[in-house]
Amino acid sequence: MAKKYVYFFGDGTAEGGAEMKEVLGGKGANLAEMVKVGISVPSGFTISAEICDYYYKHSKKYPQELKSEVESNLKRLEKTTGKNFGDAKNPLLVSVRSGAAVSMPGMMDTILNLGLNDQTVIGLAKLTSNERFAYDSYRRFIQMFGDVALGIEHNKFEKEIEAIKAKRGIKLDTEMKTEELKQLVENYKKLYVKEGKEFPQDPIKQLWIAIDAVFGSWMNKRAIDYRRINKIPEGSMLGTAVSVVSMVFGNMGDDSGTGVAFTRDPSTGEKRRYGEFLRNAQGEDVVAGIRTPEDLEGLKKVSKEAYDELYRIFDILEKHYKDMQDVEFTVEHGKLYMLQTRSAKRTPRAAVKVAVDMVNEKLIDKKTAIMRVTTDQVDQLLHPMFDMNEKKKAIAEKRMITTGLAASPGAATGKVVFDADKAANLGKKEPVILVRPETSAEDVAGMAGAEGILTARGGRTSHAAVVARGMGKCAIVGAEAISIDDDRKLFTVNSTTVREGDWLSIDGSTGEVFLGQIKTIKPEGLEGDLATLLKWADQIRRLGVRTNANTPTDAKVARVFGADERAAALKEFNPMLGHRGCRLEITYPEIPTMQVKAIIQAAIELIKEEKINVIPEIMVPLVGHVNELKFLKEIITKTADELIKKSGIKLTYLVGTMIEIPRATVTADQIAKEAQFFSFGTNDLTQTTFGYSRDDSGKFLNDYLEKGIIPVDPFKTLDKDGVGELVKIGTKKGKKSNPKLEVGICGEHGGDPDSIRIVDQIGIDYVSCSPYRVPIARLAAAQSTLELKAKRSRKSK
Ligand code: ADP
Ligand code: MG
Repeated sequence: MAKKYVYFFGDGTAEGGAEMKEVLGGKGANLAEMVKVGISVPSGFTISAEICDYYYKHSKKYPQELKSEVESNLKRLEKTTGKNFGDAKNPLLVSVRSGAAVSMPGMMDTILNLGLNDQTVIGLAKLTSNERFAYDSYRRFIQMFGDVALGIEHNKFEKEIEAIKAKRGIKLDTEMKTEELKQLVENYKKLYVKEGKEFPQDPIKQLWIAIDAVFGSWMNKRAIDYRRINKIPEGSMLGTAVSVVSMVFGNMGDDSGTGVAFTRDPSTGEKRRYGEFLRNAQGEDVVAGIRTPEDLEGLKKVSKEAYDELYRIFDILEKHYKDMQDVEFTVEHGKLYMLQTRSAKRTPRAAVKVAVDMVNEKLIDKKTAIMRVTTDQVDQLLHPMFDMNEKKKAIAEKRMITTGLAASPGAATGKVVFDADKAANLGKKEPVILVRPETSAEDVAGMAGAEGILTARGGRTSHAAVVARGMGKCAIVGAEAISIDDDRKLFTVNSTTVREGDWLSIDGSTGEVFLGQIKTIKPEGLEGDLATLLKWADQIRRLGVRTNANTPTDAKVARVFGADERAAALKEFNPMLGHRGCRLEITYPEIPTMQVKAIIQAAIELIKEEKINVIPEIMVPLVGHVNELKFLKEIITKTADELIKKSGIKLTYLVGTMIEIPRATVTADQIAKEAQFFSFGTNDLTQTTFGYSRDDSGKFLNDYLEKGIIPVDPFKTLDKDGVGELVKIGTKKGKKSNPKLEVGICGEHGGDPDSIRIVDQIGIDYVSCSPYRVPIARLAAAQSTLELKAKRSRKSK
């Protein structure tokens, strides 16, 4: 059988359906689906996105069969609607609409009222006994066609409208009289001539030019930019589909109109219908903001029947799609038609609420709820964020002065301070942003006092980044374009100078730096619905989630955020190359002896005096050769056992090692014989594997990313092919030679969703991350479990 390229919908049946988004686009697939569910949708057909793919691969030509397939579907549409394309007495009019598998709202083109020409407009006027409406539709079509298909500037059409309105001193398009609309049509035609373009009177010609234009809009700048910004790789979709839909008219008078609506409130997630309705208007008017729309109650006044029907459809759609929907509809003479439905975009807050509510309403199960909320959304809920509108305004006012690495999420606004002590003091009274070339241990109090931290140097694992994340404080690091003059208390970036005391706003989730204040919204915290959702995640995840707690506050925060409780392990903050870690301890055995004494004595006291049972884990850093561990283990066990014996109580402790040297991963079988647990220090393993130093990697990593040398920052997301492979080898070899071996990873990767997915697949037992990342790790681990299960069940089929 020949390949099918066109799918019909209408008359209660459809050839496509919701599962066909890849080829029909979201819009086409859902139109077909709504028809199948019995919802009133104007009939039409969708040309497959495969044609778009073909079109670009064959220098903008179509496969031969397409023409006849479109023609036969057009015939079918004429039969279904009882109208004929180009028929002067009873013309069929259509819209030609774009729509890809992933919704790209407003990025591609749509043309309405196609099929109108000098003859059919007269027919339409007679048929509807509404000449004004007919010419209103005609002028809209000529304008859209000229703009979208022939590239005549939109503004030039608007000027013609303004000229006519100015003549009579009217403000609204709806105030134009029939004669004026007729005049406008004539003026538009003159504009075409002036622009050297031809307005085709033949509807079939109009249709093919419009189809060309919609396929062409797949590669317009707007669409390409949108895909880039939203990280949709080129080639991940076939392209756009084209839906040809018979027109229904919201511009037929005061008993007609058009609107958009959400089945729940997209900003709060509350179960409350939410929408906008515009009387006597056509689709694009709502988005264009020509007149201020009414809310849905406005529709009730126009037609109680249509209003009731819309509410009935909301329920049908939510039950059917099991998700919050965003719909477009039109009312023609009191009758409701649905023109689009898709799952609604929503704020993080709404995402969590809708997911939890829908489980309680038994619409979805807990697993679905967990997959519906992204880790980014959870992240945003836990940190202050800029008010979206204020941020947009700041961008429009060109107040964004530079960007750096988004090192620690959240947003902050405050007065610039260049000195850590000053930040600590002033921060008690008013919000400050600490701006430093880089930070070091002496700056920690100042960082704690500031709302946010901005540094000119350093990468994602620099001191400023690591400490800020640990504090849950927003930070941008490595903003290389700023140059700080500590003496004069100012910094410059390009041609802008910012002085101490000036307001500055930074977005640590995106790396953007703004002049002036931007209103921030307080985080929700881990309460209510989010807590519920994460509890469900805990029931599902296989991976353990622990925290790196260096201070009692860290430990407390981590417990509030739901880390699995365990005795915190001791770890040196900065084991680097050189005479450090276990090497130092082998030269000076009194160091491990002293450390072990401290650990074991503290544990004994806890058990004896506070009756708290603890199992200390003693971890030897920087091991590369099994003999290093052997040597130190002897000292550790001897010291510990003596103390325990003397105390007369029972105390278990574990001895293990950090795996952060490539040699340790490939000799893990030997090392595992001497260790009770492995903790992969993936920050340092990344440094030692790549030979990058985190102290200066900020200087070239951005270059590497921009030039595509490496796909992602390996300090943010575990390098699957290199470092990940070493972790895999180490885990496999280690567990094989010592089946009781517990294996975890600690460091920044432990809180990164992509890295969590990588190590979950490797079969690691737990991840450990900074306290503020714990909720994200819990959700990511649960999502990873579900994804792996789905993958396995697909494979076994
Ligand atoms: P977008 O993807 O930009 O939303 P659409 O293809 O959905 O573009 O169409 C733009 C507007 O025109 C929408 O408001 C839609 O509801 C309306 N519209 C599209 N097709 C028709 C039609 N056949 N009858 C009436 N209105 C339509
Ligand atoms: Mg739309």
